[in-house]
Amino acid sequence: MSINIKDYPLLLNGELITTEQSIKVINPANEEVIATCSKASEKELNLAVKSAKKSQEFWAKTEIGEKQEVLHKIAEVIKGNSQEIARIITLEQGKTFVDAQGEVQFAEAFCEYFANQSLTKEVLKDDESSNIEIHRVPLGVVAAIAPWNFPFLIAVYKTAPAILMGNSIILKPAPTTPISTCFFGELIQPIVPKGLINIITDENELGPIITQHPDIAKISFTGSTATGKKVAENSGSTLTRLTLELGGNDPAIIMKDAQPSKIAQDLFSSSMNNSGQICAAIKRLYVHQDIYEEMCNELKQIADNIVVGDGFEQGIDLGPLQNKEQYEKVKGYIQEAKQKGNIISGGDIPEGPGYFIPITLVKDIKDGAKLVDEEQFGPILPIIKYDDIDEVINIANSSNYGLGASVWGENIKKATEVAMKLEAGSVWVNQHAAIGPDIPLSGAKESGLGVEWGEEGLKEFTQLKILNVKK
Ligand code: NAD
Repeated sequence: MSINIKDYPLLLNGELITTEQSIKVINPANEEVIATCSKASEKELNLAVKSAKKSQEFWAKTEIGEKQEVLHKIAEVIKGNSQEIARIITLEQGKTFVDAQGEVQFAEAFCEYFANQSLTKEVLKDDESSNIEIHRVPLGVVAAIAPWNFPFLIAVYKTAPAILMGNSIILKPAPTTPISTCFFGELIQPIVPKGLINIITDENELGPIITQHPDIAKISFTGSTATGKKVAENSGSTLTRLTLELGGNDPAIIMKDAQPSKIAQDLFSSSMNNSGQICAAIKRLYVHQDIYEEMCNELKQIADNIVVGDGFEQGIDLGPLQNKEQYEKVKGYIQEAKQKGNIISGGDIPEGPGYFIPITLVKDIKDGAKLVDEEQFGPILPIIKYDDIDEVINIANSSNYGLGASVWGENIKKATEVAMKLEAGSVWVNQHAAIGPDIPLSGAKESGLGVEWGEEGLKEFTQLKILNVKK
């Protein structure tokens, strides 16, 4: 399936505009240019900030009901255009059309969830001496910087809470997946107030300018830990509010009493969905030695039957990696795995075009290998044998990452005890990456700063204001 090469516009000050420079967007399944989109320069960024600032002044005073109404309308427009959005996601991101449809549905669910939220003032004290109230007021202009693994979902789940809380927003998608966000701009242009949502694009040049901009009050960033640290550094001079959702190297610990045949499919999906390009995917699998061979065999049986290919073709389970850089990185892990472990499924990279990596399972590999210690962000899973539970908890916790972790076993009480000893923002038992708009997500250690989603996430788009009246 293909679309005519189209030049996607930016959304600036309520208008869809094209610029002189453009970005070529590549389909990772065949490496062909599928569309272009206008590229913003510092001039367009400044225009976006100016219009977002102006719009926010009036938006902050708008009734919550009206704000919710705009979000309901956005959710409706997402629903009404879900097929075309999904088609664009598959074209630019690579995931299968079915998975792209899932991404659009999830985005709509986030939008609907926030459309039904509000925060009311809390009365801390009200007696004869004083009245103390906690109010939540808007921050101002929010800038959202997104990665390429769930380009549409992330754009929507940052926009909805930001504007619900009375802020305006500037969205900047990743350079390799800008068109689903630009298309979002086309869809919402007629239904959102002028300047409330602005969309700009770049090829990695604007990040440092956005993060130091004096008129941007908050950065909501999702991306790698390395870039997240630069964001933190750059925003230091203005003390811009930050939410950082960063990388992960999530361990899953399989207890001695787990039943491999029962959990294999869930484990497999939790590590390989979106071709492993999920922040909270299982990235290190620790299996008790008594069930190690059985667990490896069960996973191998699933992996051997997975078909990797163009996400538009029938019978395809998983698509290519999203971009060449990530593809080369994952190829490096496969080379290492050939020396430091035993590849039991996959491992042979097909000739191009397309950034295809077969599902690869690596057993008999140990901590210390890059594949285990780093975030692979691809369809290659190290399966590590352990015998002592306390030791494996220490190993799991030795990572600088702390996004998610899971424990799998028949004895839920025991598995929960282990889960509570793991250093991560989310710990799951007999599941992994069970997420949703009403469940806060927060990374421990170098996996993030702050919270997204749920009421805690909503609060991060506000400034706390304490009213203290002496009577
Ligand atoms: P990345 O850090 O390379 O890029 C993310 C965004 O930052 C892009 O829009 C990029 O243009 C922008 N950017 C680049 N340099 C910048 C700078 N100096 N200042 C500000 N912005 C800058 O990440 P990626 O490769 O696109 O995404 C993959 C990473 O994202 C993985 O590590 C993954 O785990 C992480 N991720 C985390 C979550 C989460 O919720 N924790 C979700 C999805 C992805």
